[in-house]
Amino acid sequence: MEREMSKELLEDWLLHVKDIAEIGKVADYIPALASQDPRHLAVGIHRVSGQTVYAGKADHLFTLQSVSKVIALALALLDNGEERVFSHVGMEPSGDPFHSIVKLETSKPSKPLNPMINAGALAVTDLIQGNTPDEKVGRILSFIHDLTSDKTIHFNQQVAESEFQSAFLNRSLCYFMKQHGVINGEVEDVLDAYTKQCSIEMNIKQLARLGAVFANDGYDLETLRPIIPRNLARICKSFMVTCGMYDASGEFAIKIGIPAKSGVSGAIMCSVKHYGGIAVFGPALDEKGNSVAGLKLLEYITKQGDLSIY
Ligand code: GLN
Repeated sequence: MEREMSKELLEDWLLHVKDIAEIGKVADYIPALASQDPRHLAVGIHRVSGQTVYAGKADHLFTLQSVSKVIALALALLDNGEERVFSHVGMEPSGDPFHSIVKLETSKPSKPLNPMINAGALAVTDLIQGNTPDEKVGRILSFIHDLTSDKTIHFNQQVAESEFQSAFLNRSLCYFMKQHGVINGEVEDVLDAYTKQCSIEMNIKQLARLGAVFANDGYDLETLRPIIPRNLARICKSFMVTCGMYDASGEFAIKIGIPAKSGVSGAIMCSVKHYGGIAVFGPALDEKGNSVAGLKLLEYITKQGDLSIY
C-alpha cells in the first residue's frame, strides 16, 4: 500500500541518516569534489502528477557526475539509433567497479559491457552528434533544458577542469577503446566533452523533475509532448536497474528495487514508472561510490511508499 510522503517525514529521515553519512567518504580523486561538505543532504520527489516535496538543502547545487550517463545515453540513442549505439557498447552488467579497465581486454569483441560504467559512457559521449566537444556539450545541455523546462542549468567549469586534468584512468580507457575502434574521436576531445557532461550542475528539485520525465516514459510532464521516445526511455530505465549502481546493482535491487543512477558527487536519480522521480544527495560515499545517506533515504522512501518494482 502506497502512503503519502510529507516534508516533515522526509526531514525526519534526513536527521536519521546524518550520522550514517559520517561513515562514508567524499570522493577526492576528482580534486574539486573533495571540498564537498558531507553534511549537505537533500531529498526531492517529483510525482508524474506534478506534485512535489523536498527536504534538506533543496537549493544546493551539485554536479551530476555519473547520473549524466543516463541523459547522454538517451541523446546518443536519439542521434544514432539503437543499432549503432549497441555496436559500440554492450547491454550487460560488469560486476566490476565503475572505472575498471579489466573487461575491456577480456571481452570479445572488445567493447565496454554497458553505458553506465565509465568506459561505456565515454564511448556513448563519443557518439553524440557535434563537430566539437563544446557543440556536444551544448546539445546535452539543451536536451536537459528541454527535459527539465529549465534553461538555467549549466556545467561547473572548475569541476570540469579539475577532472579533465586528473582523468588519467579515463584517458587510459579511451586510448584502449580508440585502438580497438570503439571510439572514433580524438581522446582529448572525448575527455573534454565527458568531463563537462559530468560537471553539469543541478539541485535536488531539478534532478527529481528529470527523473520524473523518465518515469513518465519520456513525455513532458505538463504538455505530454514526447521528449524521449517511450522505447528509448525504457532502455535507459532498464540500464538503471541492471547497472545504475555499478557493482552494487544487485544488492540495490533487493533492498530498494527501483531504477536508479548514482554519481560520485553523491547524487542518485531514480525513476519509478507512474509514480515519479526521486532524487537524493549526500556527498559521503561507500566503497562502491554510492551515497551512504542517499541509499538509506531511498530505503526509507521505497518502504514507506511500497515502491519496489519487483
Ligand atoms: N566523472 C566521474 C568519472 O568519470 C564519474 C564517475 C561516477 O560518478 N561514478 O570518474
